[in-house]
Amino acid sequence: MAKIVILGAGFSGQTAALYLRKKLKKEHEVIVVNPWPRFTYIPSLVWVGIGQMEPEQTMFELAPVLKKKGIKFLQAWAREIHPDEQYVVTEANDGSGEIQKIEYDYLINATGPHLNFEGTEGLGPDNGHSHSICNIHHAKMARDAYLKTVERMEKGENVKILIGTGHGQATCQGAALEYITNIHSDLVKRGLRDRAKVMWISNEPALGDLGVGGIYAKKYGYIMKSEQFLKSLFAEFGVYHQVQTAVTKVEAGKAIWENYAGEVGETEFDFAMLIPQFQGTKIKYVNKDGEDITSKLTNPGGFTLVDGGYGKSWGDIKGSDWPSTYQSPIYSNIFAAGIAFAPPGSISKPHVTKNGTVITATAPRTGMAAGIIGKVVALNVVDMIEGRTPSHQESMTEMPGACIASLGKSIWNGSAATILMYPVAPDYDKYPDYGRDLNVCDLEVGLAGAWIKRSLHTAFSYKMKGNPGWSMIPE
Ligand SMILES: Cc1cc2nc3c(=O)[nH]c(=O)nc-3n(C[C@H](O)[C@H](O)[C@H](O)COP(=O)(O)OP(=O)(O)OC[C@H]3O[C@@H](n4cnc5c(N)ncnc54)[C@H](O)[C@@H]3O)c2cc1C
Repeated sequence: MAKIVILGAGFSGQTAALYLRKKLKKEHEVIVVNPWPRFTYIPSLVWVGIGQMEPEQTMFELAPVLKKKGIKFLQAWAREIHPDEQYVVTEANDGSGEIQKIEYDYLINATGPHLNFEGTEGLGPDNGHSHSICNIHHAKMARDAYLKTVERMEKGENVKILIGTGHGQATCQGAALEYITNIHSDLVKRGLRDRAKVMWISNEPALGDLGVGGIYAKKYGYIMKSEQFLKSLFAEFGVYHQVQTAVTKVEAGKAIWENYAGEVGETEFDFAMLIPQFQGTKIKYVNKDGEDITSKLTNPGGFTLVDGGYGKSWGDIKGSDWPSTYQSPIYSNIFAAGIAFAPPGSISKPHVTKNGTVITATAPRTGMAAGIIGKVVALNVVDMIEGRTPSHQESMTEMPGACIASLGKSIWNGSAATILMYPVAPDYDKYPDYGRDLNVCDLEVGLAGAWIKRSLHTAFSYKMKGNPGWSMIPE
C-alpha cells in the first residue's frame, strides 16, 4: 500500500488528487493537506473584486467532495518536509494548532504562491495601502474599497484608479489586465466612466507582454502583436499606461516607482490594485540530520526545483529547458505542480536599472497549466506505484494559455478581449519565427470571449468537485 500526500488544494493539487483516486486501487491512501476548508475558483475573483459575483459562487467545501471520493482531508499548513525520513510536519488551521507528522511514500507540493507583499513596502490590503485580488479574502476587501470609490464618484468626485503590478519581479499581469477591463466596463455601465482616470502600471517590457514575451497572432492578413492589440484597446477605453516600471513603495494614496532608465517618480491614486511578487510558499526542507536543506531543493524565489534546465542566462534558455515530469532530481518521490515548481527563468526579457533594481516580468504558471501539471504528476506517481518509470511528460512549451479580459459577464451583451497563446512558453526550435504556433494564437474582442470566460467558471467548478464525467472536461 502506498501513501500519497498532496500539499495544497488549488487547481494543481485538486486535479492531482482526483486523478490519483481515479487511477489507483482503493488500498492506496491519498491525503490532501490544505489550510482552508474551501476550494476557490481564483479566475472569477476579478468579478468578486468589483461586486459582480458573490464570493460563495467561487467556492465549495473540500471535505465532503474529498470524502465522497475516498480522499482524506487535513485542514492544516505544511510547515516542514523531511525528505530523508519521508514525512511532512503540519500545523492544523482549525483553531487547534495541532502539530502532526504525516508520513508519505510520494509527495506532491502544489502549494501555489506565497504572496510576497512584504517585498514592497506599504503594498497590500492587510498591512499596506493597496488592494489585491489574489485570494478570496483580498478580493472581498478590494470589492468593498472599489464600491466606496464608486460611491464617491456618484457624489460627483473625480477619482484616480491604478491597476497593475506592485513589484519589479511580479507575474500574473493577466489577472490585473482582466481587473482593469472589468473596472472600465463596470464604470461605463454605471455611467461614471468620465469621473475616473484609469491607469495601468506594470513591470512588463512592453504593453501586452503579460510575462510571456508578448503574443503574435495572424489578424486580417497581417501579423499583430499583443502590444498593438492592447494599445488600441487602452486608447479606445481611455486607459493611461506606464510599463517598464517597478513599484518600489506604496504610501496612502501614492505609489512610488522606478523605471527602466532608473528614474524615480510617483503616481497618486484613490484606489489601487497591485499584484505582489509571487514566491514559493515558506515550507522548510529538512534532512535526516535536522539541517535546513531548502536552498538545495528550491530556487532563490522558494520554488521547488524539478527536472528543468536551470542556471542558464535568459538568452540561452531553450524550450527543452522547461520541466516536463515535475519530479525532484534529488528525491524521486517528490513532485512539484502548478505555481510551486521552479521555471528555468523568465520568458520576458529581464532588465536591471542603473540603481540595481530588477524589473522583470517573471514567468506565469497559469490555471490551465496548473491543472495539466496536476494530472501529469498524478499519472507519474501512479506509474511509480505500479513499478514503471514515470512516463508522462508535458512542458509549458506544449500547453495552451488564455487570458480572457472580460468586459462584463452577461451572456447577452458581455464582451471580452481574448488573448490565446500556444504554447505558453515559446519554443523557437519548433516555431522558429515567433516561438509559438500562429495558427492557434489569437487576439480578439467580442461576445464569444464573455461566453468562454463564464463557461470556464462553470465547467472547472464542476470538474474540481469531481462530479460525474469530471475527467472528460479537459484541464
Ligand atoms: C485574479 C486571478 C485571475 C486569474 N485568472 C486566470 C485565468 O483566467 N486563466 C488562467 O489560466 N489562470 C488564471 N489565473 C492564475 C491561476 O489562478 C493560477 O495559475 C492557479 O490558481 C495556480 O494553481 P495552483 O494549484 O498552482 O495554486 P493555487 O491555486 O494558489 O493553490 C495552492 C493551494 O495551496 C494551499 N497552500 C498554500 N500554502 C500551503 C501550505 N503551507 N500547506 C498546504 N497548503 C498550502 C493554498 O491555500 C491553495 O489552496 C488567475 C490568477 C488570479 C490571481
